[in-house]
Amino acid sequence: MPELPEVEVTRLSFADRIAGARIGSVRLGKPLRWPLGIEPAALQGRTVRGVRRRGKYLLLDLDHGLLLIHLGMSGSLVFAAALPEPGAHDHFELGTSRGLLRLRDPRRFGAVVWAEAESDPVAHKLLGRLGVEPLGPDFDPLAFWQALRTRHAPIKSVLLAGQIVVGVGNIYASEALFAAGIRPTLSAAHLSRARAERLHGAIREVLARALAKGGSTLRDFSSADGQNGHFQLEAMVYDRAGQPCRDCGTTILTLRQGQRSTYYCPRCQTA
Ligand SMILES: [Zn+2]
Repeated sequence: MPELPEVEVTRLSFADRIAGARIGSVRLGKPLRWPLGIEPAALQGRTVRGVRRRGKYLLLDLDHGLLLIHLGMSGSLVFAAALPEPGAHDHFELGTSRGLLRLRDPRRFGAVVWAEAESDPVAHKLLGRLGVEPLGPDFDPLAFWQALRTRHAPIKSVLLAGQIVVGVGNIYASEALFAAGIRPTLSAAHLSRARAERLHGAIREVLARALAKGGSTLRDFSSADGQNGHFQLEAMVYDRAGQPCRDCGTTILTLRQGQRSTYYCPRCQTA
């Protein structure tokens, strides 16, 4: 599932190239998670001003309104001057004066949603409850600790929920908890201030490193210019059950939390 680094890598791979492009055509495939919310023809003639990111949403700003794009479980965007005929998994395509922007999404948990403005109910419903950006100036160590103290769920579940800090999904939550030496099952409210600050730093460090590596390509993620990510090759715990810890040699364990697999080192993660 694409997490914050993959979405940001995607944004960086086409934002400059599509800025200023005029929309000439819109093609829809099978229904995605949410409907587009506008007649496709009504987008023709509009200009793409730029691409921003909020959490795991890409915001394609038009000269009037915006398109919110979510990659869901298995989505990826490609932006190119020319593309082969759309396949069975290609469910949204903008034809522009600068090239074709296509969403490929085999599991169709992704979406492209139109909104007049970010303050629109439809956009507010998707963006309004998101926590702070982990790489932005509002992600503050003290405020992070104070927010965690009000949550009694396991720390890993609290990170994944995205209400305190956005975009830290299964891979990067597992890796950040390893880096901070924290057991994923620990109640968030039980983190000491020092541990919370260490986790804060670990989240930023892990995400920044993932960005630098082009994200993680576990199944089929690639950026909009077709590059695979490489972060998964240096994961310390994620998807490494049964293998030796790269720090201490202890066997990495896995357990189920919510619907997700969690990976941790029982010796390095004792807090
Ligand atoms: Zn270890």
